[in-house]
Amino acid sequence: MIIIMERNATDLQISRVIEFLKENGFEIRCNQGQIHYVIDALGDKTTVTPGRISAFDGVKEVKVIREPFRLASRDRKPDDTVIEFPNGVKIGGKNKPVAMIGPCSVEESYEGLLQVALAGKEMGCEFLRGGAFKPRTSPYDFQGYGEKALKYLKQASEETGLLTVSEVMDAADLDMMCEYVDVLQIGARNVQNFKLLQAVGKCRKPVILKRGLASTIREFLLAAEHIMYSGNPNVILCERGIRSFDSAFTRNVMDIASIPVIKKYSHLPIIVDPSHGTGQRYLIEPMAKAGLVAGADGIMIEVHHDPENALSDGKQSLPIPMFKDVMRRINNFNEMVNAINAEDVPV
Ligand code: PEP
Ligand code: MN
Repeated sequence: MIIIMERNATDLQISRVIEFLKENGFEIRCNQGQIHYVIDALGDKTTVTPGRISAFDGVKEVKVIREPFRLASRDRKPDDTVIEFPNGVKIGGKNKPVAMIGPCSVEESYEGLLQVALAGKEMGCEFLRGGAFKPRTSPYDFQGYGEKALKYLKQASEETGLLTVSEVMDAADLDMMCEYVDVLQIGARNVQNFKLLQAVGKCRKPVILKRGLASTIREFLLAAEHIMYSGNPNVILCERGIRSFDSAFTRNVMDIASIPVIKKYSHLPIIVDPSHGTGQRYLIEPMAKAGLVAGADGIMIEVHHDPENALSDGKQSLPIPMFKDVMRRINNFNEMVNAINAEDVPV
């Protein structure tokens, strides 16, 4: 950590900062620059955060050299994390990118869900996604069918062999959800619900952590850190777009650059969700491809048997025939991308 003091910082202010750092185990090197007094604090202490130092009078700026996420950081674990499921499916590393497909919400019609799952299976997808507990902006919108939806997911999984993903909104539902699904999802709106992060951290189920509507990459990785710090290393990040000033044509701005950035700083796998990332059916294919080219370990796409009558996110869901076409092209495309990405690019 490097602490830059104000140009008019007093000797007393400087020595108070130095004392505090020494008391907390840092080794100190000081340097009187032409304008600013600079303190170089050497050590790896999680307890002293930049925020605590910047509260001292006379401190102008605190620069961190090491990223504040540790368990999630590539410095600490240079090899990619690969999450493996009992049926042999793997996410991360040099494995083939996975595809997670399914409706935004699991709805009344089991037949509809099964049609989607069968189409997914046919197209080589590995996961069936579907919301049972829906985080809706309006309390008047459909809130999800809860446990009944999870039963549908499990049944569709038994019929097709697909693994399942569903969002957990409340830690009180965790034990019950773990009975039904293979992967838990933390939605964008709960990325900083720290109690929920800690709760999923205490169980060992793989967790998809979605980027928050306004999360910086650092905040996103710190949210993952909470899950890992609580004991669960099986975190899959998901870039699903962030809110910006221009919502005229897209619901969110899908931050493609976040993928190579996260790959550089973290060993965790990351997938992309172009459905939520753009909010538009026609943008799913190009943005899924863009994510894969950028190095994503998988894609998540909303698919519905009847999008025009979907209870949530119909506009960004693919109908089954279109999904099959898109997925066929993505599969072909992936082979090309794999060949290109087979060469190690230094980061
Ligand atoms: C979803 O996956 O249906 C969902 C609600 O996603 P997000 O949390 O990214 O909005
Ligand atoms: Mn949705």
